[in-house]
Amino acid sequence: MKMYDVSAPIFNGMPVYKNKEEKQPEINTTTNGHVTESRLSLDVHTGTHVDAPLHMMNDGATFETINMEDLVGQAKVIDVTNVKGAISDKDIESEDIQEGDFILFKSQNSFEDEFNFEFVFVGEDAARYLAERNIRGVGVDGLGIERSQPEHPTHRSLFEKDVIIMEGLRLKDVAAGQYFMVAAPLKLQGTDASPARVLLFDGLKEA
Ligand SMILES: [Zn+2]
Repeated sequence: MKMYDVSAPIFNGMPVYKNKEEKQPEINTTTNGHVTESRLSLDVHTGTHVDAPLHMMNDGATFETINMEDLVGQAKVIDVTNVKGAISDKDIESEDIQEGDFILFKSQNSFEDEFNFEFVFVGEDAARYLAERNIRGVGVDGLGIERSQPEHPTHRSLFEKDVIIMEGLRLKDVAAGQYFMVAAPLKLQGTDASPARVLLFDGLKEA
C-alpha cells in the first residue's frame, strides 16, 4: 500500500488566491524561554480545503453539514494535464464517471508552485455534466474550481446537487486511477470552508 499526501504545505509566503497579501496565513510565535506557542490566523480557503455551500450561496449550508462519510472512501483521479483554461464536458465525457464517485482532476496546476492567474478550472458545462451524474464530490488542484465566470455557475451547479467541492490539491506525483481517500478538514462550525489534510491510498480497497 502506498500513501500520497496531496495537501499543500501552509506557511507565510505560500501560494494564495490571486496573490492577495491579506490571504496569507499569519503565524505568530511567542516563547517565554520555556514554553513556545504559536497563534495561527488563516483564511478558511487556504491551501487544500473543502468548500461549504455558504461560500457561494447566501442561504447555503455551513461547513458542519458536510458529511465525513462523503470525504472518506473511494476517489478517482482523472488526468486532464492536456487541458488549458476550462475543463469542458467534452474533455471528460469519455471518462468513467458514475453516481457516487469522488472525482479529482489532475491538471497542469499540480506542476506549478506559484499562483497562476490562468489556472485550469472546471467550466460550467463540465460542472453541469458532473452534477447530473450525482457524483459525491469533485476536487481540483487549483485554488479555485472556477475563474472568470460571472455568477459562479460552476460552484452553484455543484452545490445545488450537494456535490462537495475540494480545492488546492497537489496531484503531481499521483497517476490517474482509483484510490482510497481520507480527506480530513478541521471540525469547524458555521464557516464557509475548512482547510483539510487529504491523503490518497493506493491498493487499499476499504477501511
Ligand atoms: Zn474555496
